[in-house]
Amino acid sequence: MRNKFRRGIRCGELSLCGVSIAGEQTAVAVPELDVCFDIGLCPRVALSCGYICLTHGHMDHAAALAYYFSQRDFQGMQPGTALVPKQIAEPIEQMLAAWDRIEGKVSPRQIVPLAGGDEYEIRRNLVVQAFRVPHTAASLGYLIYSRREKLLEEYLGLSSPQIVELKNKGQKITRTTHVPLLCYLGDVEFESLKWTDMMRQATVLVVECTFFEEGHQHRARFGQHVHLDDFIELLPQLQNEYIVLTHLSRRTDMRQAKELLSQRLPRDQRQRIHFFMG
Ligand SMILES: [Zn+2]
Ligand SMILES: [Zn+2]
Repeated sequence: MRNKFRRGIRCGELSLCGVSIAGEQTAVAVPELDVCFDIGLCPRVALSCGYICLTHGHMDHAAALAYYFSQRDFQGMQPGTALVPKQIAEPIEQMLAAWDRIEGKVSPRQIVPLAGGDEYEIRRNLVVQAFRVPHTAASLGYLIYSRREKLLEEYLGLSSPQIVELKNKGQKITRTTHVPLLCYLGDVEFESLKWTDMMRQATVLVVECTFFEEGHQHRARFGQHVHLDDFIELLPQLQNEYIVLTHLSRRTDMRQAKELLSQRLPRDQRQRIHFFMG
């Protein structure tokens, strides 16, 4: 079981491990970032992450949050931190306090309420930016970027001692750049989602695609989910090197989903698209 969740997908320097099945459970761990997106289930690979980025409170995304904190404590790990939409921070605290009473012990934890546009530094120069996501419950998406200092163009030809000299004189020789590494969208309706360049340019884009079948477009609309039609329409605007589709329903197994995708897109356009089910 443990190995099954560890297998994951390799996306350049990052790997995605865990599970994602619509309506059942979603937990997508990225060990290199120490972050797990959603926590509908808590396999070992999710437990090992120091941070949970919770998109929304639907049970298939949030059910194992109490277990995560309790189990980290039980195993002597550092307390975890969960970034959550601010609208549900209070009931989450209440739910965890109730679990403390049920278990007869307090599980140490940090809950960080975020609104769209808020940022949180998970480690030096690695930043999580939350953004609002349209869905049937209060939802956030998360963009992770790395903050890097780049030498200003005019100093590119200088030697190291020359650069040190300028630095010692207090001269500003660098500018700060943001390198978007990964953008994670939980359950989402594309129509009113506000895309930013960073989201479109992140090396990895993780996005749900719950509905694949013809005739299920209205179901996608109703639940504010993505249908394959929406994804195909959006694809030309996406510059991401890796696009990972999650939250497939059990109705459409991965083989079928791949088949439906291949009927709609030529091979060269399909190469950067990966399926994540776990
Ligand atoms: Zn869901
Ligand atoms: Zn949902």
